[in-house]
Amino acid sequence: MTSRNKLTTYRGKRHFGRTREPQGGHASAGDTLCFVVQIHDASTLHFDFRLEVDGVLKSWSVPEGPSPDPQDKRLAMPTEDHPLEYRDFEGVIAEGEYGAGTVMVWDGGSYRPLSGKKGPSRTFSEALEHGHASFWLDGSKLHGGYALTRFRGGGPGWLLVKEGDERAGARGTPDARRARSVRSGRTPEARRPGGGRGEGSGDDRGR
Ligand code: MN
Repeated sequence: MTSRNKLTTYRGKRHFGRTREPQGGHASAGDTLCFVVQIHDASTLHFDFRLEVDGVLKSWSVPEGPSPDPQDKRLAMPTEDHPLEYRDFEGVIAEGEYGAGTVMVWDGGSYRPLSGKKGPSRTFSEALEHGHASFWLDGSKLHGGYALTRFRGGGPGWLLVKEGDERAGARGTPDARRARSVRSGRTPEARRPGGGRGEGSGDDRGR
């Protein structure tokens, strides 16, 4: 499937006259594969974890966010492929539109697939299709090996888990409300319309 066709679902959910999200199709893949983690303050606050695979960003919604602790198994629900340009998207998705709320780039960088036990005969994309892929992240916040594993038994869910390597830690869950953009240094709250006043002060909770 071409990356254009892979974005049919993404485009079908959005009105590009009413959202500044990218339509996609203009970014060319670089020499390295990229990943991005966005904090999306929509109907529920969650993290969106995206990996570049075959010209698009494969995407999972991770309610609790990625953890550096290998003991933490983070639920990751697959969502539609996003265009590569989405790695740069921060902003407000208007009320009434799909995913309405604010999007902030929490982390990003490059990644490399880790060769699995089955050896290099299986591509990273094939490994994901088979329901298990591991990869090494070089981000500003996330580092080291992580694995995505689909639940056995046909459910839609996946788990995102840190692998036990030298970059493992025990810092646990990032606080999405206090997290800051790696691009702008701002918090999700500060990006809300009228929310700049309380930037970093922790007031205006829950609105
Ligand atoms: Mn989302």
